[in-house]
Amino acid sequence: SVDKEKSNSVAKIKVVVRKRPLNKKELAKSEEDIIDTHSNSLTVHETKLKVSSIVDLTQYVEKHEFVFDAVLNEEVTNDEVYHETVEPIVPIIFQRTKATCFAYGQTVIYKISLIVLFSAFLGSGKTYTMKPLPLKASRDILRLMYHTYRNQGFQLFVSFFEIYGGKLFDLLNDRKKLCMREDGKQQVCIVGLQEYRVADVETIKELIEKGSSTRSTGTTGANEESSRSHAILQLAIKRSADGNESKPPRLVGKLSFIDLAGSERGADTTDNDKQTRIEGAEINKSLLALKECIRALDNDQGHIPFRGSKLTEVLRDSFVGNSRTVMISCISPSSGSCEHTLNTLRYADRVK
Ligand code: ADP
Ligand code: MG
Repeated sequence: SVDKEKSNSVAKIKVVVRKRPLNKKELAKSEEDIIDTHSNSLTVHETKLKVSSIVDLTQYVEKHEFVFDAVLNEEVTNDEVYHETVEPIVPIIFQRTKATCFAYGQTVIYKISLIVLFSAFLGSGKTYTMKPLPLKASRDILRLMYHTYRNQGFQLFVSFFEIYGGKLFDLLNDRKKLCMREDGKQQVCIVGLQEYRVADVETIKELIEKGSSTRSTGTTGANEESSRSHAILQLAIKRSADGNESKPPRLVGKLSFIDLAGSERGADTTDNDKQTRIEGAEINKSLLALKECIRALDNDQGHIPFRGSKLTEVLRDSFVGNSRTVMISCISPSSGSCEHTLNTLRYADRVK
């Protein structure tokens, strides 16, 4: 059918890199832009030191080339990011597809030195990139619901939760602790999760704002907390049998947006704080498990290793059957972030 063709033409897995501009702080430190971008490839210029003798240090530049489905440079707007990543997926959500879009990359790390709180690293743009996407997607979903699929009984639901230290919290219900259950039919059920039925963009906007602010209200300050959790916003399309709204609606398709915890968290072994190390280990585990699941998906492997972490367990039903995954790897252009940038790109490279 035409519908089937439409869904087949959207790649199962798409890996996109987004480079952000140098910011004031980096410019003030005279950091350089070390990334050259082309339409679907990029080059990282890494400055290294060669020790020729005890007194002789020579600087040289090592180039690293990467190829992806698309590379978006610092001039690309959020609208263009949406166009390149999520827009093609929206119509196939109505054709029983489950899709996941996530942002990956280094996050801002705050360190306390004596009495001053300063940022040791600057974020790569994950939140900046992810935040507008659900709203743009729901705008398109509602348009399809009210025009193309008019009077066919489709309904849109929004939920928003976070995974923090391996536990689930509802961001639209005062961070209520949630638990997860499988229903035997490969459907994931998060018990008690609030799902809001929405019919207009304004309401969705309010819900996203509410969830985002709930997420960042931590005990130690805004960014600190949110950088350690994965935030998951889901748009679910449901439909009652025969378009009759008095019957309970059943899931048709789902679009999940994930603002991942910072990728460097796990590697941050200089942290002596035990709690931080446990969180780091959990984040590392989930990023690793996520990569394994996407790779299994790509190879059409029957066995998907989703039990590797809470994150992949929650996304379980998005890894089986007719599914799509878009990964947006966010990178900073600055010389000071070179190591993290190379790690991010290598991760993205392995997913592909
Ligand atoms: P992360 O979520 O990865 O820690 P953020 O999204 O918070 O990083 O981005 C860090 C800072 O850089 C923010 O101040 C954000 O506004 C800015 N920024 C990120 N990406 C871009 C971009 N593409 N263009 C302009 N500013 C950006
Ligand atoms: Mg962030």
